[in-house]
Parts: sequence; structure tokens; C-alpha cells
Amino acid sequence: MTLLEKPPVTASAVSAPNVFTHPDTWATYGAQWNSGEQKALHCCAVHDETHDVKTFTFRSADFSAISFEPGQFITVSPTISGQRVSRCYTLSSSPTRPFALSITVKRVPGGTVSNWLHDHLREGDRLLASGPAGSFTPIGRPADKLLYLSAGSGVTPLMSMTRAGFDLAARLDIVFVHSARTPDDIIFHEELTRMQASMPGLRVVNVCEGHGDSTDWAGPIGRLDLTLLSEQVPDFKEREVFTCGPQGYMSAVKSLLKQGNFDFQHYHQESFDITALDEAPLIETACVLDQPESQFTITLSRSGKTFSMPGNQTVLTAAKKAGAIIPSSCSQGVCGTCKTAVLQGTVAMNHNGGIRQREIDKGLRLLCCSKPTSDLVIDL
Ligand SMILES: Cc1cc2nc3c(=O)[nH]c(=O)nc-3n(C[C@H](O)[C@H](O)[C@H](O)COP(=O)(O)OP(=O)(O)OC[C@H]3O[C@@H](n4cnc5c(N)ncnc54)[C@H](O)[C@@H]3O)c2cc1C
Repeated sequence: MTLLEKPPVTASAVSAPNVFTHPDTWATYGAQWNSGEQKALHCCAVHDETHDVKTFTFRSADFSAISFEPGQFITVSPTISGQRVSRCYTLSSSPTRPFALSITVKRVPGGTVSNWLHDHLREGDRLLASGPAGSFTPIGRPADKLLYLSAGSGVTPLMSMTRAGFDLAARLDIVFVHSARTPDDIIFHEELTRMQASMPGLRVVNVCEGHGDSTDWAGPIGRLDLTLLSEQVPDFKEREVFTCGPQGYMSAVKSLLKQGNFDFQHYHQESFDITALDEAPLIETACVLDQPESQFTITLSRSGKTFSMPGNQTVLTAAKKAGAIIPSSCSQGVCGTCKTAVLQGTVAMNHNGGIRQREIDKGLRLLCCSKPTSDLVIDL
């Protein structure tokens, strides 16, 4: 072939990086807000999604844009009956709209924070929160074919991912299968229907357990099982799966995927129930763990305070006993609120996704799930 005979360049011949999953896309949006750092957010809108779900939208006090990845959560800390209480809520908004952050909260019967937010938080109010955390995100996992599976309020991280893909006009092939009790309980129903109409790669399937008060529901009825999944998403085995919902739903999804011979290397899940977490990865396992007789000296570098603690306790528990004030929330290595730099010494950390490898590499640790394996100097 001579130079004059070059083949024509077609749009499909140009292979662009996947703008949705590429980390650089997200690094350019807004200011970094660390997961251990508390800020007062201003509530600028409250919106009813269903009879028991509301979306609260916030801006930062200085109107700055805030950077996060789709699927991440923040930890809110309202003061209720004189006590500060913290809970994690996923950002249901998209990081492509970094000036307005939303959380979408379902009332939990008897629940402290969800009911307080529904009953008390109004437009114009301020709410203390700590920055985005979590690794339930498609960023850094370059897949174009996605399957989002959610139930109830578990829709929130997947909604953020869908909104982000939509705003970026990303070339994605997404099937979003959401399960709800009745048609009236489907969160974001209208918006997802609208997005589906103008996003060629998005298909939304709502599955309802029953009709409820609705007389015109024509979608699938029942619970998601392998037959229904195979009918609706015949190529589910070729997709990167992201799942979020109540514990029972996630166990059912896992067993139906197992039944369908799905490769679990392509499976990601987020649990909203921190009491039901899987066994967590252990970092610095070379150390000997849980030796009550080993005593270590902990120095807080900023205050100069020193205390001694046993090796079978978490650094957070011992530091709090010694009078240190450390923001913390979940105590399970999920929320990232207690992320702190360990300047000297080693710990055994048993986290549940609340810290990234790049943060670990920088010397940060989650004190709520770290036990000392030597004397420590901590940046506190
Ligand atoms: C990473 C992550 C992301 C999340 N994202 C979202 C989201 O986007 N949207 C959302 O709605 N939720 C989300 N959650 C769940 C949320 O954090 C809360 O767990 C949920 O709102 C319930 O909190 P609560 O304070 O209302 O209930 P809690 O007060 O924690 O109560 C929970 C349950 O325990 C019962 N209970 C409370 N105290 C007692 C007691 N003393 N004895 C017996 N039972 C008791 C209550 O009756 C209730 O049934 C997320 C959780 C995590 C970990």
C-alpha cells in the first residue's frame, strides 16, 4: 500500500480510553474532601422520592465543587437529643455535578438518623459530614458492559454511576435491574425512564414483588431469580456486576449468579448493613496479633500525649480511653472517618473498604480496625 492508499479513518477505528472508568476523568472534578475531614454542608433542597424515601441536596459552605467517585458515600453526623450520631449515606448525585451533592435516604422503622433526617432536616439547615469514602465504584475497572443490580435504597450508588455515565455521554452498555416491593416504591423511576429514552446504551428493568395500589403495572412481578435474569439479560455472564441492596437480596443475587456459573472476579457489592460484612482483608499480616500481654506505647505527635495500650485493642478504642478526640463512625473499617497517618511503627489493619491502597501506601490507617504491633507515633 502506498502512502496515497491509506485506509480511511472511521470513528470506530479510533480507540478512546473509557472516559467513565478512567481515574483521570474524576481527578479533574472539584476539590478533594478527605474522608476523615468534617465539613458543614448546607441543605439546599429536600425532595420526596416515594412515601418513605427523600433526597436531600447540599452545597458546601464556600460554594466550592467537591470531588468524589460514583458509588462513594459520605458520613453525616447530626446532633440528636444532645448526642452526635453518625451514619453513612451514598451520594446518589453524580460527581459530574460537583456543586450539588445529594443523599437519598429511606426511613428505617425505629431508626435514629434516617427518621431524624426525614422529620427535621429542611432547606437552609446545616449538617456536619465527613468526606467521600468507599471503593464500590467502577473507576479503575475498565469494563464497557455493566450490570447494575439493586433493591430498595440500594439503588443509590448505581444511580450515581448511571447519572455519571449519562452526563459524560460515555459509550457504555448498561442493564440496570432494580427490585422494589411495588411500583410505587421504585425510587428514581421517572428519571431512569427519561435517561433510558435518550441514552442508547442504557436499559432499565424494574422488578416488583407485587402490584400494590398500581393497576397498570406491566413489568415483571416476583423476585429476581436466575430464570428472570437470564430472560432479561441473556449475556449477564459477560458483564461487570455491581450489586447493592438489603442483606437477603444480596445473598439471593450471589446464589443465583453462582447457579448461573458467573465469574465472581467481575462481581462487586456494597452492603448498607455494617453488622453483616464479609471477612475483611488483613494488612501487615506478618505481625503477631491479639497478644493481650504485649503493651505498646502510643505517642500523639501533635499534642505530645503518650499512653500505653495492649496489643489486642484497636488504637481508636485505646486513644479515646486516653482522652484523644478522634472523629469516628462505623467502627468496622467502612466509613473512613478515623483515617489517620501512622508516622512511626506498624499496625495490623482489618478494614472493610474504607481505605484505598494508595492511602495505605502513604501511611494512612483506619484506627477503628487497627491494632498495634509495635510502639506508634500517630499524626494526632
Ligand atoms: C456504605 C453505606 C452506605 C449507605 N447508603 C445509604 C443510602 O444511600 N440510603 C439509605 O437510606 N441508607 C444508606 N445506608 C444505611 C444508613 O447508614 C443507616 O444504616 C440507615 O439509614 C439506618 O440508620 P438509622 O440511624 O435510621 O437506624 P439505626 O438507629 O441505626 O437502627 C437500625 C435498626 O436497628 C434497630 N435498632 C436501633 N436501636 C436498637 C436497639 N437499641 N435495640 C434493638 N434494635 C435497635 C432499629 O429499629 C432499626 O431497625 C448506608 C450504609 C452504609 C454502611
